Amino acid sequence: MGINIAIDGPAGAGKSTVAKAVSRELGYIYVDTGALYRTIGLYMTENGVDVESESELAQALDRIEVNLEYVEGKQHVILNGEDVEGRIRTAQAGNMASIVSAKPPVREKLLDLQRDIARENDIVMDGRDIGTNILPNADVKIYLTASVAERARRRALEFEAKGEACDIEVVEREIAERDHRDMTRDIAPLRCAEDAFVVDSSDMDIDETVGTILQIIYDKTGAGA
Ligand code: C5P
Repeated sequence: MGINIAIDGPAGAGKSTVAKAVSRELGYIYVDTGALYRTIGLYMTENGVDVESESELAQALDRIEVNLEYVEGKQHVILNGEDVEGRIRTAQAGNMASIVSAKPPVREKLLDLQRDIARENDIVMDGRDIGTNILPNADVKIYLTASVAERARRRALEFEAKGEACDIEVVEREIAERDHRDMTRDIAPLRCAEDAFVVDSSDMDIDETVGTILQIIYDKTGAGA
């Protein structure tokens, strides 16, 4: 049984950056679960699947095999034998992930994959429903959030760094829409687990956020003491 750290929160709160740094510090495996939903979304988009049709969705899911591999500590999602890491990081894949992740058969398909890796390893897993649904007995649960305006500002900087044009108002609207969809869906909605520690990173930089979370983990588990 591994030590399990769950980090949940809305899009753009810095979960993946922070979770990566925390896992590196602890020597644990970092599991990015958003990448799994992005991968399913990518398959549906590339294969023209109508995800609103239950039968089409079910047939498509039967054709999909998703695995995780770790190369020098970095997660790679393997879709039907092909590494799709380079294709799932677009805004379109993120929005599609949010749409397919609201479908119960999609969540069902990814459940065991996430639980198995957590059972066998010390992990920091980030997502939306890790503390509430996937790993309800996680050793430490963190709910990492930040204001919509701050999250939009960070996303816009990321786009700029990649040389992609973006309109901050559009980014802000997309983030608010994604939050709404993730928080109001019937199945495994994004919410803060009762026993989670809430960390608001609106006024913190990455180092402060990482330090705050590591301190919570050390206090709770005695790790690093
Ligand atoms: O974290 P990331 O932006 O990669 O997640 C993409 C989408 O996947 C989220 O907006 C959410 O709808 C979905 N997701 C989820 N449950 C998770 C992780 C991601 O529903 N554990």
